[in-house]
Amino acid sequence: MNIIIMGLPGAGKGTQAAKIIKKYSIPHISTGDMFRLAIKNETDLGRQAKAFMDQGELVPDEVTVGIVKERLSQSDAKGGFLLDGFPRTVEQAEALNNIMSELGTQIDQTIYVEVPEEELMNRLTGRRICETCGATYHLVFNPPKTEGICDLDGGKLYQREDDNPETVQNRLEVNIKQTAPLLDFYKGLGVLATVDGSKDIEEVFEEVDEILNGL
Ligand SMILES: [Zn+2]
Repeated sequence: MNIIIMGLPGAGKGTQAAKIIKKYSIPHISTGDMFRLAIKNETDLGRQAKAFMDQGELVPDEVTVGIVKERLSQSDAKGGFLLDGFPRTVEQAEALNNIMSELGTQIDQTIYVEVPEEELMNRLTGRRICETCGATYHLVFNPPKTEGICDLDGGKLYQREDDNPETVQNRLEVNIKQTAPLLDFYKGLGVLATVDGSKDIEEVFEEVDEILNGL
């Protein structure tokens, strides 16, 4: 089974990805890992990617797509894979389809972990950090015993700049704009399944599992 997993920041995509690869014994292929591996192995494409990164430039699509192709051609991906963080654009999705054709296979399923924006805001802005020891809390999921105070040392809790509602809102908007055309693309191919990511982790995985079992 060749699967893509997608979801906005905070949707719990990583948690579901971990459960999928464990149950179905397929490799988790994330963009970051692919780049790290290509660079570590000093492949031609890895060297090219590193040159762009060292210059602080974006890695162009032809290099990224080449790295994806190299990775998906490896033997451990023959029995299936879970792709995470790629594709990010419709152009990349089309390139991925071409790679699949060349390898004599196809994308079987795209799973979109959907969580309403309001819930994502709650999840992403709730983090608090102790200014003394760096322990992290979450107002909803892991609250301190006393509001605003670290359980471990009584230190004051603060919110990181990145977790400010305005910053989080912007990050979500950018991601929503990026994701929408991809969802349309895979819907058009008839391989998009949406799961309700606002439920708890096990319930979400039950939905995911049902979809994958049907493949
Ligand atoms: Zn502390």
